[in-house]
Amino acid sequence: MWIEVPLSKPVQWPEGVRLPIIISVHHQSEEAAVVFGDGQPDPFDYSERQYGGRRGAWRLLEILGKHDVLGTWIICGATVEKYPQISQAVKKAGHAIAGHTYEHEMMCNYPPDQELGLIRKTVSVFEDRLGERLTGWRTCFASHHTIDLLLEHFDFEWDASIWNDDLPYMIEGHGKTLLEIPFSSYSDAAFAIQITNPMPPTPYGTWHSNTPEFIFRTMKAQFDALYERGADKPVLMPLTVHDFIVGRPSRSLVLDQFIAYAKQFPGVVFTTHDQVRAWWLQNYQERDRA
Ligand SMILES: [Zn+2]
Repeated sequence: MWIEVPLSKPVQWPEGVRLPIIISVHHQSEEAAVVFGDGQPDPFDYSERQYGGRRGAWRLLEILGKHDVLGTWIICGATVEKYPQISQAVKKAGHAIAGHTYEHEMMCNYPPDQELGLIRKTVSVFEDRLGERLTGWRTCFASHHTIDLLLEHFDFEWDASIWNDDLPYMIEGHGKTLLEIPFSSYSDAAFAIQITNPMPPTPYGTWHSNTPEFIFRTMKAQFDALYERGADKPVLMPLTVHDFIVGRPSRSLVLDQFIAYAKQFPGVVFTTHDQVRAWWLQNYQERDRA
C-alpha cells in the first residue's frame, strides 16, 4: 500500500526556471512489435520498430547533442542487450537513464510475481551490461501493482508511468518514497493518428503518419499553453519521443525545430527526471532515503 504525500506548500522550481521540459527518449527498438497468433512477430511491424535501434536512436542522440540539452533515456533491458553501443554513448553524453521494462511488456497483463521478476531482470541487465544502477522507471502500461512493487523491492527514486496529472507528486509506502512524474501524450512527438487514413489508426505508427507540420503544431500548442501558465503557476512539460518514430528524418527535424523554438523563451530549461526530483526535494526539504 502507498499514499500520496500532501503538499505542505506550493510546487516551486528554482529561481529562473519557468518551464522545465523533460525529453524522454523511449529507446525500445523492436521490443513492442505486434505478435501474431503463432507467437512470431509481425515482420512489418518488427522491422519498422527495429529502425529505432539501428538508426533512430543515434539520430536523436545527435539532435540533443546539437542543442546541448540533456534528457532521460527510457530504455528496455532487451534493447540494452541488443544495441549496447547506443546505451553506452547515451551514458557517456551525460543523459539520465531509466528502465522501460525488459521487452516492453504490458505490465497490466501480468500477475504481480511475474511483473516483479521482469523488473528484477531489467534492473540486473542495466547493472551487468551498463554498470548503471537504475533510479527511475517507466512502463507505458502500469498495473495496479507497479508502484507497490517498485517501493517494496527496489530503491527507485522516481516513477514516470502514470498519466494522471500535470505535475509530480510524492508517494510514500513500504517505508520509502518515490516521486511520481506523470507523462502525457499531448506532447508526444509520436502523436500520429491521421483521421482520414483508411488503415486502422494506431497512435505510434509512422505508416499512419501525420505531416511534420501537424506534429510541430501539437507540440507548440502544448508548449505555448504551459509557458503562458508558467508566468505565475508551476508547470512541467513532458515530451516523449520514440526512437523508431521520431528518429525518422522528417520527424527528427520536427524535434530539432521544436527545441530551437522553445529555447528562445527565457526560463525554459531542458532537464531530466533526476533533476526534477532533486528540485522537488530541495523545495520540500524532505528527508532523502539513506
Ligand atoms: Zn514505450
